[in-house]
Amino acid sequence: MAAYFPKRIIIDNRVKDSRLTHNIMDKLLGVPVEYVDNPIMVIEEIKKKENSFREGKRILLLTENRGRFIKPCPGTKEYICCGYQILNFATNCNMECSYCILQAYINNPVLIVYANTDKMFMELEDKLNKKPETFFRIGTGEFTDSLTLDHLISFSDLIVPYFAGKKNAVLELKTKTDNVDNLLDLQHNGNTIIAWSLNTQEVATKEELLAPSIGDRIDAALRCQENGFLLAFHFDPLIYYQGWEEGYKRTLDRLFAKLNPKNITWISMGCFRFLPELKSIIQKRFPLSKIVYEEFVPGLDGKMRYYKPIRVEMYSKMLEWLKDYDPNLRVYLCMESHEVWKRVFRDNRIKCSEDLARMLEAKSV
Ligand code: SF4
Repeated sequence: MAAYFPKRIIIDNRVKDSRLTHNIMDKLLGVPVEYVDNPIMVIEEIKKKENSFREGKRILLLTENRGRFIKPCPGTKEYICCGYQILNFATNCNMECSYCILQAYINNPVLIVYANTDKMFMELEDKLNKKPETFFRIGTGEFTDSLTLDHLISFSDLIVPYFAGKKNAVLELKTKTDNVDNLLDLQHNGNTIIAWSLNTQEVATKEELLAPSIGDRIDAALRCQENGFLLAFHFDPLIYYQGWEEGYKRTLDRLFAKLNPKNITWISMGCFRFLPELKSIIQKRFPLSKIVYEEFVPGLDGKMRYYKPIRVEMYSKMLEWLKDYDPNLRVYLCMESHEVWKRVFRDNRIKCSEDLARMLEAKSV
């Protein structure tokens, strides 16, 4: 898969001397660069364009994060949440997944990197040092893909060695890319987990446009495994369609043909769910996609979900297959109710978010 290059770079003058800005300037020979005092004006200009989503993905803006870099994952109290912390170093993504929640969630089509990393590290230090007895799981892939820009900004050069020196935290870099070259020589001390979002190849081809194939993602995971990284996989969204069982089983067969389950720290599953306003966006932007035409019910968090029996069936099958590869794999559900947990795992171990957080914090690999 060809790596992403923007067609225009906008640099907020306030971050023109930052390390990430220097990194990118060394790699973008030939891409026009503009320096601005007010990046909001650029965003507003793109928002007015008819195809603003697509146009915005071709523009890379380096600016300041004036809010907080670290926030708790916005789970809802109605469902069991893993208690993750999000490190928001960038927003938006160049890939085009039909189901991408960012289309309905963020009010900005441009790809943004927050280059004031001094502030980010101050926040991290403050958080990790204030509670040395607390174990933090921190991830960057909630509002962007963690690695899709790494060949340009080399964010991993800063963040992976930082976490290598921490005793009470792990960093998870979630991606759909095979953009792992930068990672391979970094000192990580087992404190960075590289995680892939996986699906069936059919779903990847139809719904994850511009993302590397499933085979390429697994090959990238293999390279990380060979360099001693812990791995994780997220089957999220699980998509229900005719043939889903063969499709997901095939992906698992391909995964475990190459990777050692002992190196996999966790695997999550989450059935397709979406904010109601995303439906018309998907219909307009991805007219060939069929994923919104199943039957859905509104969940307790307002998102549309498959009926419970379908969710339980999909999770149960996946769990059965996963446990056949290794009964010790640590598998969890993303944003599901206690009842669904009980029916899928056939036990009552995970009753609330605290139980799940404890399960993920225990050293298993
Ligand atoms: S890779 Fe993730 S962030 Fe990027 S478009 Fe797909 S779902 Fe959205």
